[in-house]
Amino acid sequence: MEKKAFNPFTMAQAQFDKAADILNLDPGARALLREPLREYHFSIPIRMDDGSSHVFRGFRVQHNDARGPGKGGIRFHPQETIDTVRALAMWMTWKCATVDIPLGGSKGGVICDPHNLSDREQEQICRGWVRQLSRDVGPLVDVPAPDIMTSAQHMLWMLDEFETIRGEKLPGFITGKPVGMGGSLGRTEATGYGVVFTIREALKTLDKRPEDTVASVQGFGNVAQYAIQLYQQIGGTVICVSCWDQKDQTAYSFVKKDGIDYNALRSITDRFGGIDKSKAKDLGYEILPGDAWLEQEADILIPAAMEHQITGDNVEKIHQRAIIVAEGANGPTTPEADAVMAKRNIYLLPDLLANAGGVTCSYFEQVQCNMNYYWEKDEVLGKLDVKMTSAYHAVAEMARKRNLYMRDAANCIAISRVAQASRDRGWV
Ligand code: NAD
Repeated sequence: MEKKAFNPFTMAQAQFDKAADILNLDPGARALLREPLREYHFSIPIRMDDGSSHVFRGFRVQHNDARGPGKGGIRFHPQETIDTVRALAMWMTWKCATVDIPLGGSKGGVICDPHNLSDREQEQICRGWVRQLSRDVGPLVDVPAPDIMTSAQHMLWMLDEFETIRGEKLPGFITGKPVGMGGSLGRTEATGYGVVFTIREALKTLDKRPEDTVASVQGFGNVAQYAIQLYQQIGGTVICVSCWDQKDQTAYSFVKKDGIDYNALRSITDRFGGIDKSKAKDLGYEILPGDAWLEQEADILIPAAMEHQITGDNVEKIHQRAIIVAEGANGPTTPEADAVMAKRNIYLLPDLLANAGGVTCSYFEQVQCNMNYYWEKDEVLGKLDVKMTSAYHAVAEMARKRNLYMRDAANCIAISRVAQASRDRGWV
């Protein structure tokens, strides 16, 4: 029931309304920030490989750019909806403001299924997307990035089209490019490591040592893998990961009570983050249903797979031992589940904060491109740690001072920063 009715933009606006009430935000700022500043809806006509023509629908939503150029990914998805793009654009505005980087929030998409498109057809969609928007995006205007089903290759095609139209080299137009073609070292690790920088700080707040904690993780893709790697490095033990099984079209949880072997598990995982079941069994993993990750006796839960995973229907299954939920994924927890977690005093590291390492490193990529000078990996990750740590402490301090749930504290910090920038510019 809950799943069918799920509209991400309604949820994003509900979260906004709650924080706006706490902040007692004035009606002008409320009206401005509750909706996107600009939206582009357009057609991308493509000559297909069989000679037929096909028109794809594309979008770009620029939610707010009071604090700097827009930033946000481009998704290729057959079920893409404008409300999903609106919600994600709004969350990008708050995320950039939470970690205090000088960027606004945008998101883009094309309704298409790359599984059924040749590379040439995808290249045409990328170039067509840029042709429709070249006047309204750019390194100082709005900076796209990869997202669901778009890759570094798609970003390069888009960059090439943009530079051809503009007649100059502008690698800061888009991020998520391959290293060596304007990409940043450390970007692959950034989101997962960022999650753990915030967990490390939260454990200090809660007066716990990482060595004394165990974690259960949903997902074993980019975010989850690097989060697990760093969490183990700081002494933690991961007892469960779950992932999607493409063949069975269902999710499974892989449990090892004395701790998973990260390298061994990675060696039997495909590039989509799917673990080979029979090989995992041979390695001694207990294989349970997909949602079992949530019920494990763990101190820390890391949802790092997809949105809408901890809901009113399953939140009660969280084990009594849980003290931290760190949202690697975007929007994994519904407001109904938030209410229960807040009552149980579970310390939430909300997506706006916990997974902001990705956009922070994309910002570093943009800065390096605009300077045409590239940093070493240690420098990138060191700067990332500084940003994430200070963002965590700002949110934690706000939560403590005003006795707020951490999601509300992050939203309040972000929204008040964006409202202030809008006021300073004389917009409201
Ligand atoms: P990914 O595609 O690399 O990995 C996704 C993982 O989730 C895979 O292991 C997959 O098997 C698993 N999965 C999918 N459906 C599942 C289900 N129903 N149950 C259990 N596991 C399931 O994706 P990613 O880049 O790691 O992103 C994960 C989440 O983090 C997404 O919500 C994404 O929007 C968010 N995020 C990613 C980044 C980034 O830099 N990659 C940044 C911010 C937020």
